[in-house]
Amino acid sequence: MQAPSIGGVMLPRGKGEAIRLSRGASLTDFAEKINANPASLVQVMFNLGEMVTATQSVSDETLQLLGDEMNYTVQIVSPEEEDRELLESFDIEFGEDEGGEEALVKRPPVVTVMGHVDHGKTRLLDAIRKTNVIEGEAGGITQHIGAYQVSTEVNGDDRKITFIDTPGHEAFTAMRARGAKSTDIAILVVAANDGVMPQTVEALNHAKAAEVPIVVAVNKIDVEGADPTKVRGQLTEYGLVAEEYGGETMFVDISAKQGTNIDGLLEAVILTADAALDLRANPGQDAQGIAIEAHLDRGRGAVATVLVQRGTLRVGDTMVAGDAYGRVRAMLDDSGKNVYEAGPSTPVLVQGLTNVPGAGDNFLVVGEDRTARQIAEKRAARERNAAFAKRVRRVSLEDLDKVLKEGEIQQLNLIIKGDASGSVEALESSLLQLDVGEGVDLRVLHRGVGAVTETDIDLAAGSDAIIIGFNVRAEGRATQAAEREGVDVRYYSVIYQAIEEIEAALKGLLKPEYEEVELGTAEIREVFRSSKLGNIAGVIIRSGEVRRNTKARLLRDGRVVAENLNIEGLRRFKDDVTEIREGFEGGINLGNFNDIKIDDVIATYEMREKPRV
Ligand code: GDP
Repeated sequence: MQAPSIGGVMLPRGKGEAIRLSRGASLTDFAEKINANPASLVQVMFNLGEMVTATQSVSDETLQLLGDEMNYTVQIVSPEEEDRELLESFDIEFGEDEGGEEALVKRPPVVTVMGHVDHGKTRLLDAIRKTNVIEGEAGGITQHIGAYQVSTEVNGDDRKITFIDTPGHEAFTAMRARGAKSTDIAILVVAANDGVMPQTVEALNHAKAAEVPIVVAVNKIDVEGADPTKVRGQLTEYGLVAEEYGGETMFVDISAKQGTNIDGLLEAVILTADAALDLRANPGQDAQGIAIEAHLDRGRGAVATVLVQRGTLRVGDTMVAGDAYGRVRAMLDDSGKNVYEAGPSTPVLVQGLTNVPGAGDNFLVVGEDRTARQIAEKRAARERNAAFAKRVRRVSLEDLDKVLKEGEIQQLNLIIKGDASGSVEALESSLLQLDVGEGVDLRVLHRGVGAVTETDIDLAAGSDAIIIGFNVRAEGRATQAAEREGVDVRYYSVIYQAIEEIEAALKGLLKPEYEEVELGTAEIREVFRSSKLGNIAGVIIRSGEVRRNTKARLLRDGRVVAENLNIEGLRRFKDDVTEIREGFEGGINLGNFNDIKIDDVIATYEMREKPRV
């Protein structure tokens, strides 16, 4: 094939060589790699049927498509991969324990509590914390730092468990989406009086996708009508078969409210960890782990709760977390006590960072302050670049109309996320069946089950799409990302509502049709001359009503003698009024138009957008 030539300029076609591009790169980034003019790549994409601007961040597929066309092998580098390479350039490896088998020591499991709303996740986390927080002084102040550790006795041994104190799978999945594995075991809370609900299924799917073993807490057994057996039956359908039925999942009946059988649940967590997982880490190396939560504290500056995953974190260590870095000035544990070191699976609140890392950012201790600063600065620069590349105008349902009229888009791109594949498919097929008339296309770029993620936002931002969340919400940082990127995310819980709204927006997309609606007629009975205002018509309203600031035409003997006039002034006696109704007299000023005579008729009307059917 001949190299595409744009305006006589031959484009540098490759010979199949590989080029590496960051996920979400723009055509400008692409052009830089192959030494081409970005505008010519815009043209190439246009010829391929895609309208993208040079600086807009585009999808993996678009980059691949362009690569194929230009004869380059495009390798898309994920942010995680890029970060690994960055750390490698400092000779740091993240994620693996140093040393051999003999360096590894058993560590406590880290647990996230998930389940449907109102099934008792928060109550359970409170109940566990209240009864079991290690060395928790009676009546003492416990601090919510985003995670806590409890201890429980199993087979005569004192065992610890770390709980992530943010219930729900959203945070869990947000972290996972950023490449961080925070959780070893998921407790799936199901209310025995309510049974399996949409978010129960969603949560268990997320846990399964992350290959995290599940312990089921059948909660609210104190409530009348509670049916723990039914819950076991229902979950069988989703592959969670209770041990007592020959399966591998432990089901524990509890009441979070009354504190019933919390110990039994903790024991089940330990037993599941022992049976299914080999949880060991090297406590003897520089600490690594993830940031779980972070905020700016007025007195203490940036504080971050980190979960140590391997190594031991100590006061005085130099660390980098996301694009924050600093020396650990002080550490507090979950009971608010100062601690000086924290080993694997221990959550601690760290002070001393330059700024606030994001939840799910990894942290690591490095030997030198300078290294920490350089890593943090490189990460910050990368984020800034990515954000800059994406700063283009986005489409929202409200402004679709305008954007289309300006000819900027011809189609509405949608991303559909929902709580179940059934509802997503139902919504998609109904939307695709919408008859929206000519000139406007509706395209579903992506559909999926689960919360609206940062990846969805990125995709929407890259392709000017609108996101529909059906019975799901944006998770964690996705909300901020949507705001930052200006992506319109719409939430619905009723399918037809979603369809109605999209249909309405699409109809707005089409050029609006207007029709004239007559408002009223006024017969001129007298003409007054005013030096200031020109001629004023003394009228009687014959039909309807005459309103100020509406359009009018002038009829003489039934013939239109002037069009496009304005009711600029309207008076009754000496008062300015906004309207005069049928049968009443008043004065009308038609602005600059003075050619009025007695017996002329002023007919007023307005243009109304015709509703589409
Ligand atoms: P979440 O949305 O899953 O975090 O649910 P919450 O922990 O906020 O609990 C929802 C409601 O159920 C609250 O009013 C709790 O007090 C109540 N609840 C939680 N666990 C139990 C329980 O074991 N028994 C009873 N009767 N009510 C409970």
